[in-house]
Amino acid sequence: MPALTLQEFERLALPTLLDYATIPCLSPSFDESWAANGELDRAATLLADWLTTTLPSATVLVHHLEGRTPLISAVVEATAPVDGTVVLYGHLDKQPPLGDWSTGLDPFIPVRRGDQVYARGISDDGYSTFSAGLAVAALENDGVAHPRIVIVIEASEESGSEDLEAYLDDLTDTLGDVRLLVCLDSGALSYDRLWVTTSLRGLVNTEVRVGVLERGVHSGSASGVVPSSFRVLRQLLDRIEDASTGTVLLPEANATIPDAVHTAAKTLADEFGDVLAAEMPTLPGVELMGDSPAERIVRQTWHPALSIIGLGGAPEPAIAGNVVRPHTTAVLSMRLPPTVDPLDVYAAIERTLLNDPPEGAQISLRGTNTAQGWVAPALEPWLTDALNQASTDAFGREAAFTGEGGSIPFLASLGRRYPDVQFVATGVLGPHSNAHGIDEMLDLPTAVRVTNVVSAVLEAYVYAKEHV
Ligand SMILES: [Zn+2]
Repeated sequence: MPALTLQEFERLALPTLLDYATIPCLSPSFDESWAANGELDRAATLLADWLTTTLPSATVLVHHLEGRTPLISAVVEATAPVDGTVVLYGHLDKQPPLGDWSTGLDPFIPVRRGDQVYARGISDDGYSTFSAGLAVAALENDGVAHPRIVIVIEASEESGSEDLEAYLDDLTDTLGDVRLLVCLDSGALSYDRLWVTTSLRGLVNTEVRVGVLERGVHSGSASGVVPSSFRVLRQLLDRIEDASTGTVLLPEANATIPDAVHTAAKTLADEFGDVLAAEMPTLPGVELMGDSPAERIVRQTWHPALSIIGLGGAPEPAIAGNVVRPHTTAVLSMRLPPTVDPLDVYAAIERTLLNDPPEGAQISLRGTNTAQGWVAPALEPWLTDALNQASTDAFGREAAFTGEGGSIPFLASLGRRYPDVQFVATGVLGPHSNAHGIDEMLDLPTAVRVTNVVSAVLEAYVYAKEHV
């Protein structure tokens, strides 16, 4: 089968992808007025129109369940006598810009430098609609037999896919007998081969507020008398994390790590070296956690870890006055091992932070979000072979398989919904793709290669299932 080229991608997909990059279609968690401002709808319409044009044989619909973000489905009926549906998944909602981007770059004005394009949402996960659409179009245009395919592009992924379950219920008949799910929203450790994700961490986010005063009071009067809300927060955080090592102290958040995970990490580190050290924009002198490159891979994919991702109740440094502040709020984000239950961990966090409040401070939690981690079911041999062959054809090397430190909550819920489904979680989020950070980047040749892999897997599905 002739493979899609970068030139074809530039001609068929890039103009619309660049249009999409200009839309500030933030996920609902980051944009309370998403329904009123219609940016998610604008993006959905743009992408659905592109799918309609690119895939004339597809039935493309934008769904709008009451009060929920839109979802695009594109159904292409089978052209081979094989059972089952293959779902190609991506999302169109974006993370917020996060901060100032580097000189010359802007989150919503795409900039191309060489074969890389910079814009918010371009690689996480704007490219996915285009890869999915072009992968199927390549088969259709070349008359290659393919299974029934449903492209699903949702718009709540960066908010924990909070709308996806409702759509999966609503679209049960459209989805049909799902046998294979290709998730185009995952990461890569390098750009020289296909990376397939074997596990994802879970997540608990919650906002803890420590209140001590009705209003701020001159620190000359109140300090030394009224407990500092920041100091109380430090005591609370010490209950869940060892401040000197970063070890999460809650038993509920820790899992037994399978030996195979250690072995796979060692194999990866032996081949690639200290991949995580190479990827992090660490300042001189900063020591990374983990005793070895392999241990860092294990830590990133199977250890719980706490990050404080937002702080409230304190003024900007330039306008700070000598005041004992009335409250401090911290947003806790805890990544979790793939196998632990995030609701158990949240219950433990709640218990640990709210019981016996230090110095009688008023402690409250709100804004809780959880995401279940995920371990991929073992791949059927035909699929492993197909991925290795497709990776060899597209990249010149066999595919590699590893865990991811991030979370894609719907994979866990789909796993429960379709217990026998095979998953391929892959993507373009390699080094310096900066998903969720500033300067998000899409490596165009990688997007093209991933697209070709998707075509190849769809073709291989027919061979595998026809002969079974
Ligand atoms: Zn994503």
